[in-house]
Amino acid sequence: MSASYLTAHSVQEAVAALAAGARPVAGGTDLVVGARNGKAPLPVSLVGIHQIPGLAGIEGLADGVLRLGALASHEAILAHPGVLTRFTGLADACAIVGSHATRANGTIGGNVMNASPAMDTGAPLLCHGAVAVLHGPDGVRRVALDELWTAPGRVSAAPSELLVAIELPVPQAGTGSAYVRLQYRRQMEIAIVGAGAVVTVTGGVVTQARIAIAALAPVIHRVPEAEAALVGSQVGTDAGAAAVVAAGRLAAEASRPISDVRGSADYRRAMAAVITRRAIAAALARAAGGAIAVPASDSTYGS
Ligand SMILES: Cc1cc2nc3c(=O)[nH]c(=O)nc-3n(C[C@H](O)[C@H](O)[C@H](O)COP(=O)(O)OP(=O)(O)OC[C@H]3O[C@@H](n4cnc5c(N)ncnc54)[C@H](O)[C@@H]3O)c2cc1C
Repeated sequence: MSASYLTAHSVQEAVAALAAGARPVAGGTDLVVGARNGKAPLPVSLVGIHQIPGLAGIEGLADGVLRLGALASHEAILAHPGVLTRFTGLADACAIVGSHATRANGTIGGNVMNASPAMDTGAPLLCHGAVAVLHGPDGVRRVALDELWTAPGRVSAAPSELLVAIELPVPQAGTGSAYVRLQYRRQMEIAIVGAGAVVTVTGGVVTQARIAIAALAPVIHRVPEAEAALVGSQVGTDAGAAAVVAAGRLAAEASRPISDVRGSADYRRAMAAVITRRAIAAALARAAGGAIAVPASDSTYGS
């Protein structure tokens, strides 16, 4: 097959190119930068999707579902007032992706479909119950993110399917969220450990909790044991504080980290407890209306 590049101007045109064997490129900050760095050669056949109209929108908050177009950039998501107030954990993540240039060019669709276990938007998206909207030759289907990511860099979507949007149900009143990552520096860093938390507090009691960990297993995943430890706890009491500590410990126990140049498995596991506690503390503070600055990773909340 000789090298080819096509700029698609509609979803149908892109899907036809995918069905014929092309790979999609959106912002290119994973695919093209990775090829330049020798991570993997550029696919022989590429279809540019960046000019498809309507795929960069962020809409629908009033309908109870936030719809992020696959081409929405991290910068655009971060600038959306509804994201900042209702999906603050996602804003925490978008605010720390790469550099200004990465955030302006990198898309939510590329982040999700790249399926890195260390990606920053993954934990908050999972905690918010996000669903991937895939458009293929046979139509549209929706897949929960925990069914989309199957292994590092692998997704269950067919090569002929284009991600067109990510949908997130709008959280109920009394919900706060946060994403915290352990990083050695502020810019151009990927997570050594990451944790997302979404909590709903009613009458001072945690009635719903979702916790997910990143860079701690082959795929980003929720930790039901940690969630169960939090639900029913009374915020602001010794028992409530003990529940947060227990949730952090359970997140560490659920992790399966690797050792690499940025940290040993033992260090990552120990930090999983700390970072999870901080994410929960920031989410609880936000649920109570506290002004916790975005990104939450820039400060320390809780122990
Ligand atoms: C310097 C630098 C720093 C970075 N820092 C971070 C960081 O801190 N945190 C983080 O999470 N990421 C980071 N990244 C990774 C990258 O920027 C993000 O993952 C970004 O969101 C990728 O989006 P993109 O549009 O550039 O993806 P692309 O490179 O265009 O595509 C990535 C992959 O997704 C596929 N794809 C893209 N769009 C679609 C679609 N709509 N449907 C189906 N498949 C699709 C492509 O085929 C490719 O396999 C960094 C990258 C660089 C170069």
